[in-house]
Amino acid sequence: MKTMISSIDINNIDMKEIKKQAKLLSEGNTVIFPTETVYGLGANALDENAVKKIYEAKGRPSDNPLIVHIYEKKEVYDLANDVSENAEIVMGKFWPGPITIILNKKDIVPNTTSGGLDTVAIRMPSHKIAREIIKQAGVPIAAPSANISGRPSPTKANHVKEEMEGRVGGIVLGGDSNFGLESTVLDLTGKIPMILRPGSITKEDLEEILGKVDLDPSLAKKEDNKKAKAPGMKYTHYSPDADVFIVSGESVNVINKVNELTELNHKNGLNTGVMCLEKNKCKYMAKVISLGETLEEVASNLFDALREMDKLNIDIIYCEEFETTGLGQAIMNRLLKSAGYKIIKA
Ligand code: AMP
Ligand code: MG
Repeated sequence: MKTMISSIDINNIDMKEIKKQAKLLSEGNTVIFPTETVYGLGANALDENAVKKIYEAKGRPSDNPLIVHIYEKKEVYDLANDVSENAEIVMGKFWPGPITIILNKKDIVPNTTSGGLDTVAIRMPSHKIAREIIKQAGVPIAAPSANISGRPSPTKANHVKEEMEGRVGGIVLGGDSNFGLESTVLDLTGKIPMILRPGSITKEDLEEILGKVDLDPSLAKKEDNKKAKAPGMKYTHYSPDADVFIVSGESVNVINKVNELTELNHKNGLNTGVMCLEKNKCKYMAKVISLGETLEEVASNLFDALREMDKLNIDIIYCEEFETTGLGQAIMNRLLKSAGYKIIKA
């Protein structure tokens, strides 16, 4: 497939290019565009044939529902029934932004978009380019992360160009994503709001405005993965070609353990990579990619680091462990999945 590529500067948006890409969307084609979380692979959410092209391009299982991206809050009422007070509160406080809400769906949303569920996931992104594209397309846009299913989500223009050119109708190259992790997914169909996927808007942030918020219990353990309420959470995810391990323990023990293993791997002809906090980067003997100093930086660098390791032909990646409060919850969720839940205790 010939892919139409547009490079767009977020500070000086070229509306002619936006309109060309938006036209592809309104004609039932797929277009990749940047959002504040990760790059999304979009198609008209209300057009079953268009949505099928998303699943094809990604190689995504069809029981894994898509998030519908809207331009204005009022579109929620066209797509969902029973828009609760909690939904209004979340939309009022965090939209546009990196949180997706699950509500009961109206018939207008095809089953292909909802993965056969009676509910629909909706988000109003804040990214200027994403917003212009959705507005100009004139329809709600279903858009999962723009990676081949199972691979790390794309957070930079070169990720989508390298992986998806030829697989979609259009690609908008528009710089780096701000947050670098996918949106928080919040189920508002039950009595107590439940986080199905942790993200940059944290449990703590949500509890401030909603009171009690639950975390899908299946997120905690690998064995419970199959019971995950967000169908997508049960699949292998964020996997580079290299084998990923999380190393947990006191910092000095982690460093010693990783250096020991690096030597062993070397003897076995295997290339080792380490992903760590900036402050530790000189302490490892392996090829190191620093994830930054703060959790915000780690979140925004994580997927790129996994992809970079593949480019460096790394066979085994060791990653430091992070706390599981605040943003750390989302980071550890992605890391654990990437590592297939393999943890080495140092
Ligand atoms: P992605 O499209 O890659 O950002 O992933 C979207 C995530 O939201 C996946 O984990 C989906 O399974 C989840 N999701 C989307 N729609 C629903 C829904 N109606 N109910 C539960 N989870 C959903
Ligand atoms: Mg994804």
